[in-house]
Amino acid sequence: MRTRKPPFVRSSELANGVIPDRSRFWQSSSPLEIAGETPSAPERQPGGDQAFGHHFGNFRLHPNAQTGLTPSLPPVIPFTSTHGITIQTQRTPGSSRPTLRQGSPHPEDIELLQERLNADGATPALEVDGIFGPLTDAATREFQRRHGLIVDGIVGPQTWGAINALERAGIAGPEDVLSGTRPVTAEQHLEVEQALHPNAQISGGSVTTPPMTGAGVGGEFEQHMIAALDTLITSRVNPENEMPASPDLMDPIREIADAAQQTVEDFYARYIVMASRTPTGSYHPGSFRIPLGDASTRPVSREYAAAWIDYFMSEPSYEPSQVLTDHHVDTSRDRPDRAEYTRVRDLYVSNDTRFRNVRNVIRGWPAEAGSGTVFIQPREYQGGIGRWSLFKTMMHEFLHLVTHPNYARAAAAVGGSARQALIEGFTDHFTLQVWRHVRDSLEANHTLRQRVEGNLFQPDLDPAILEDPSTYSQEAPERIVAAVGEENARVAYFMGHADLLGLGAGTRSEAPLTGIATWEPTDSDTAEQYTVHAGGETVAQIRERTNAATIMELDGTAVVDDTQRFAAGHRLRIPGIRWHRAIAEDTRAQVAGQHGITLEQLERANGWTHRRGDTPIPPGTRVLIPRH
Ligand SMILES: [Zn+2]
Repeated sequence: MRTRKPPFVRSSELANGVIPDRSRFWQSSSPLEIAGETPSAPERQPGGDQAFGHHFGNFRLHPNAQTGLTPSLPPVIPFTSTHGITIQTQRTPGSSRPTLRQGSPHPEDIELLQERLNADGATPALEVDGIFGPLTDAATREFQRRHGLIVDGIVGPQTWGAINALERAGIAGPEDVLSGTRPVTAEQHLEVEQALHPNAQISGGSVTTPPMTGAGVGGEFEQHMIAALDTLITSRVNPENEMPASPDLMDPIREIADAAQQTVEDFYARYIVMASRTPTGSYHPGSFRIPLGDASTRPVSREYAAAWIDYFMSEPSYEPSQVLTDHHVDTSRDRPDRAEYTRVRDLYVSNDTRFRNVRNVIRGWPAEAGSGTVFIQPREYQGGIGRWSLFKTMMHEFLHLVTHPNYARAAAAVGGSARQALIEGFTDHFTLQVWRHVRDSLEANHTLRQRVEGNLFQPDLDPAILEDPSTYSQEAPERIVAAVGEENARVAYFMGHADLLGLGAGTRSEAPLTGIATWEPTDSDTAEQYTVHAGGETVAQIRERTNAATIMELDGTAVVDDTQRFAAGHRLRIPGIRWHRAIAEDTRAQVAGQHGITLEQLERANGWTHRRGDTPIPPGTRVLIPRH
């Protein structure tokens, strides 16, 4: 049985007495993620968000109600023009640093660059001479390959940003950021399955749900779901949701967003900085600024509204999810379950009145990051405590933006309420960690307090600020972390290795997990197994490839004769080797860097001929990491 939690109420905001007559709007201040959306997916180019600058003119919903409240409602003005926000998402943290390329002047900046390239493992190490010659150019390009940047030898804002982020994170050189992870066992995989599907029954190593009830046009499922959605949505409709924010409400938001971003980046730096990413991704460490928008005037298409209905139907915190439980709807089953789920969702938003109501609720939502822009309803965050509430919310939203695209893809493929647990549940799992870290030193941290509180700062700390944010259910994340470990969870979430949550073969999902989540039941059994390459190998060759100290037969017999030759396919046990399951973004240089080894060591271990560091590794490939 699923234990149901009451709707969230942010007691800190209620205690603050802000807009007490609209307390229902605080029942959830957590935003959502849109199915299939990957905030840092390649197709979402920086600055490409049409939401910015979209002008709604004098568009009105419920004109009568609004006329009664505000006889002369001002025209909706794009958030960007009233708040001086530029559409670009790439900031220039190294704006004091000039753009460098081969032949550039600025010897002092070049010396700093050369020092950082050396710290990041430039081979051969550069002479720090302030001259940007061919060797510095080659090292710059290799650095760009390793960190998923455009490989052009030009040190501009993104490359400086990555250099600065590495420095801020205290990361020098290739770092074994995956050293704390462990392959997931078959038992742990099953525990994760149970945690993701609390309503299902386990039998014989698999998870099952009884058949769906009430399916069909006009059937009980449709009736109950639509009634539950109507109750939820109409209780949140308010004409004021669509009143644009006034500047005095919006002004502090930019600074609070920047402070929240920096806090999260610093706390999870080693994962974020070392994650594989593509040059076209919108997020790059040190050179990204959260794009912000005003929720009250945001564009909402019917398609987007349908994605929100998806969220309202599947998020376990809301009543409609009870209808799914009652009717045994298992959206990992195509028919009738998922077909019915989709039909009723689309039926809901196809009704004009219902669509307008949903749009109104979306515009009143405290914050949401599903499109890559964080839309804020500023009314939710007034006063000093409101600003801290926004800081906590912005940490959550920023975590959505640095959730690795491959993890987001895996969660979307799993779908349903399991997806909610993977996205919202884990986002709050990480929000709580970083918040509690900040909270414990907050009294003395006047810099951060002044940044967040702005003109409302007072030296005496209001204890209400120290409260944890309200969160999505932590039941599944806690259970999963207990099974696979915190390091696995972090590397899955920030670096995209869904296999480290045991997602893959045997995971119930709405869409195939092929190439996204590639865990296999044998992963932990074969963790230290080595398979002899084609053509056969001598013990000496195997030792060289794997850097083995000890080589054993599978029965534990030590292999001591270096001239002994094994046939292709023969299996041996080599303590200290490790396997890395490649994700779609992984390149050779990135994988080598993440394990603290050189590109050459990686290629030798896997019997690959030498290629450039930005050569992609096919997703799902098991890459041998030599002992190191
Ligand atoms: Zn969220």
